[in-house]
Amino acid sequence: MLERGEVANSWRRERWDSLRLLTPNWQSRLPGLRYEGPDPDGYMTVGEVTEFIHRFAKVSRAPVRTGVNVTSVRRADSGYRVTTSRGEVHARTVVIASGAYNTPSVPQFSDVVPASVEQLTPFGYRDPAQLPDGGVLVVGASSTGVQLAAELSRSGRPVTLSVGEHVRLPRTYRGRDVLWWMDASGLWDQRYDEVEDLTRARRLPSPQLVGTPERTTLDLNALAAMGVELVGRWAAVRDGRALFSGGLRNVFSLADLKMERLLDTFDEWARTEGYEVEADPPERFAPTRVPESARLQVDLRSGEIRAIVWATGFRPDYRWLHVPVVDAKGQLRHDGGVVDNPGLYALGLPVLRRRRSTFICGIEDDAREVVEQLALFLTARR
Ligand SMILES: Cc1cc2nc3c(=O)[nH]c(=O)nc-3n(C[C@H](O)[C@H](O)[C@H](O)COP(=O)(O)OP(=O)(O)OC[C@H]3O[C@@H](n4cnc5c(N)ncnc54)[C@H](O)[C@@H]3O)c2cc1C
Repeated sequence: MLERGEVANSWRRERWDSLRLLTPNWQSRLPGLRYEGPDPDGYMTVGEVTEFIHRFAKVSRAPVRTGVNVTSVRRADSGYRVTTSRGEVHARTVVIASGAYNTPSVPQFSDVVPASVEQLTPFGYRDPAQLPDGGVLVVGASSTGVQLAAELSRSGRPVTLSVGEHVRLPRTYRGRDVLWWMDASGLWDQRYDEVEDLTRARRLPSPQLVGTPERTTLDLNALAAMGVELVGRWAAVRDGRALFSGGLRNVFSLADLKMERLLDTFDEWARTEGYEVEADPPERFAPTRVPESARLQVDLRSGEIRAIVWATGFRPDYRWLHVPVVDAKGQLRHDGGVVDNPGLYALGLPVLRRRRSTFICGIEDDAREVVEQLALFLTARR
């Protein structure tokens, strides 16, 4: 196992200070290691996740070689030539586990944002004190965007949040964590080959969830109540102005509708599985309130906005992979982790073999199945 940094590198280097997992502790499972602390319904801090992964590396005796950067993987006779910062390795098979979130995705038009406005990505952001005083424009309303918008607003800064397609969820539903419902109803076990639109499922934004001790819901209504101004999707920069799409009403009602449908499936599951008596009664949530007149543009030269935080998603980095298996969108071509080239495999990607694959707890089943494929490949070659 080659790791360019340290064990749990992404959690050490690429996360902000206040981040907690949005998945509850009982769900933080790695093969043979589960959370056994006093708060199964709580959410791990970044430090706790780092510690958890470290413990796993120790108990599983993972043969990790840290500080080894893989700079190139190429096909070679009977396998792959792997070039690293510490020399070359020849491997009959390679498992790509380099992560799905290596680089923040930032739109091209960020290049023409006036230089007087500071720009940050979640990789560079640590806490609000880092930002200049004054207004902040947070771009993207998925889990990263809503969490950073809330934190920056609490720091006393005026926050504008640019909202595109998003996934709205309540933190708890009928007395249980909403992720408990996903787990119990079998949604997370849905296999990749049963998902109707797999490409879409793999690109789905992360849900508007935050892990706090109070188990608070952090949807757009909650943010608006804190004073965060909501504007539409950021579409372009013209003459130093940020131009936002209209149509917030449609974007909001789509997210509300999808949430309602999901809650319906939970209710249906509770009815058919006899869980009805145990659970609190079904709940429905107020529609997302549409601002009376959402601004369609903001002048970035006026001094109103002093900083922009791009919470517009992440993408993998395969610049070191010199095998033609990456598509035009920069995603790996694979079938459930079996990459489109003999002897090449992948783990740790969204909806790799099931919906659960997107999360830390998805690795156990995925790794077993992908390694079975890898073993079959080696046997067949022998
Ligand atoms: C902001 C954020 C919040 C998240 N919150 C949650 C959550 O609440 N719950 C949850 O279950 N999941 C969460 N996730 C998803 C979670 O991070 C992933 O499921 C998990 O990290 C996948 O682990 P991984 O080891 O496959 O990838 P990563 O953690 O990305 O690890 C990949 C490793 O590969 C190394 N690497 C990359 N390229 C090279 C190279 N060329 N040479 C050598 N080493 C290399 C990196 O240094 C890194 O250590 C979150 C992700 C993000 C970005």
